[in-house]
Order: sequence, then structure tokens, then C-alpha cells
Amino acid sequence: MPQGIIYKALSGYYYVENETGQSVQCRARGIFKKRGQSPLVGDRVVFSETENGEGAIEELLPRSTELIRPPVSNVDLAVLVFSVIRPELNLQLLDKFLVHIEHAGLDALIVFTKLDAMEASEENARIRADVEAARDLYASIGYETLSVSSKRGDGIDALKERLAGRVGVFAGQSGVGKSSLVNALVPGLTLETNEISEKLGRGKHTTRHVELIRLADGGHVADTPGFSQLDFAELGIEEIGSCFREFAELAGGCKFRGCTHIHEPGCAVKEALEQGSVAKSRYEHYAGFMAEWRENRRRY
Ligand code: GDP
Ligand code: ZN
Repeated sequence: MPQGIIYKALSGYYYVENETGQSVQCRARGIFKKRGQSPLVGDRVVFSETENGEGAIEELLPRSTELIRPPVSNVDLAVLVFSVIRPELNLQLLDKFLVHIEHAGLDALIVFTKLDAMEASEENARIRADVEAARDLYASIGYETLSVSSKRGDGIDALKERLAGRVGVFAGQSGVGKSSLVNALVPGLTLETNEISEKLGRGKHTTRHVELIRLADGGHVADTPGFSQLDFAELGIEEIGSCFREFAELAGGCKFRGCTHIHEPGCAVKEALEQGSVAKSRYEHYAGFMAEWRENRRRY
């Protein structure tokens, strides 16, 4: 029986892209409902062809990941979008995203956008230095980074390469250029960008169904942004530290097991911070998240 990936769900139908990239409109077999399973966009499925040219989903293949916002399974790359100007780079938010990405078990690609606007800015030199420092820092921790301009097209081919054969979801603050980036990736696609929705006098983030868009090289991207705001409600306090990769590597050298790297003596993370091999910004954000987490717990 043929296999495919659900790229859209609408009005009781699942739209499955088969292995040659064609779309088959499918119903799900009643058995899923009985089992309490519900097919998700992103699911890899086995389907049979029915007489009317439609299909029936027979089997859901195991999911590697399952995101809630947007509801997509099998996402393997979170594309974290940060503009270098308007709005300016926000490394605290980037670290917060990375905590959640690590926790969800996704790969991350950090994309810095609006290079053209940076170059046109009077503060070009300062911003460029900040962006280069951020690229070096995150690369040293083991994250892939990329700088792009959707307007000029720089870096778009490199982004396509990173997405080939993967399912990607974009995340980032409003206005950083997520929609513009997805539009630049897919010829002919016109997702509404902020400019347009402002002109029409309505917000673009109305509730809508998520759809996976096929890229020329076989990858897929969700047409709707993922998380833009996050809290730590679903994380345990000990998990925050393990989501800072470079801290997790050092934690074995801490004197106390379960060291929170805040007040304990003999802490390998704080030693590395003093020696400069852990970045000050990373440690400060970590300490801030720990405090935020404690504050939230107190309120529940
Ligand atoms: P989103 O809210 O993250 O989806 O951001 P949008 O794609 O809607 O873009 C927000 C604003 O930034 C719009 O006015 C875009 O035209 C602008 N923008 C996006 N990408 C670029 C870029 O690469 N260069 C410049 N100069 N502006 C950009
Ligand atoms: Zn420690």
C-alpha cells in the first residue's frame, strides 16, 4: 500500500502527499477514533486507494516528535528567526527558545534576518559586531546559524539546503521576518506579511489551520509560525540546566549531584564562567530563567 505524509487537515479530510508529491484526499478509518488516536499534520501514513479516486488512511507510522503549537508531528528542525534590527537581536529570547527546543528534542537552526537593513543602518558596525559575536557563541555551543536577507535573497539557498528532507517550523517574535522568509523559500507563495496586514487593518495571527508546504528539494515547512511566547510551566527546574548544552556537559564536574549552578560551592559551570569558557550572557539568562521558574511556581 502507498505511503505519504499528511500535509493538511480540513473538514474531516486529510490531504496526503504521496511519494511522488501528488495529493490524495483521504478519510481516516474509524479504527483510529476507537483507539483514541487522531491523525495530525506531519504524520507519515499508509493509505489505500478507494474507488472514487480518494484514499483511506489505514495506519499511522510512529511519530518522532509532536508539537502542540502548531499541531504538527515529525518536526525535525526548529528554525529560530531573529532579526538583527527592527526588532533588534534579543539573545535572552533566543536562549529561552533553545531551552524549549532542547526539551522537545528538536534540532535548531538559528537564522538572523534583515542583513540588508543592518547594512543600510548608521549603526551597521556595532550591529554587525554583535551579530558576529552571537554567531560565534552559538556555533561554539553546537548550534547551526545562518544570516539572511529575504529582501535581497542572501542566504536563502543555504536555508533551502538545511531544510532539504526535513520538516521545519519557524519560530520567533512578531515582525522578525518569518513570513517573508517562508515566502522567499517557496516561489509563488504569498503568505501575508505584517506590512500587508497592517494596511488591511487586521492582525495576521488569526486562528487558522496549519499546512505543510513542500519545498523544491523535498523538505517541508509549516506555513504558520510556532511558538512566539513561552513559559516554563511544563519544565522541571532541573531540566532547565540540562537544556543549556554547554552546562550539561560540565555538570559532571560539579561537586554536588543535582547542582543548580547558582549557589553551590565547587560548581564547574561557575568556574567555567569565571574562566570565560561559559558566556556571561548564557549564564545570566539561565539564572534569570531559574528565578522566573521559581516565581511562577510560587504563584500556582
Ligand atoms: P513575521 O511577523 O515574523 O512573519 O515578519 P514579516 O515577514 O511579516 O516581516 C515583518 C516586517 O519586516 C515586514 O515589514 C517585512 O517587509 C520586513 N522584512 C522581513 N524580512 C526582511 C528583510 O530581509 N529585509 C528587510 N529590510 N525587511 C524585512
Ligand atoms: Zn554546578
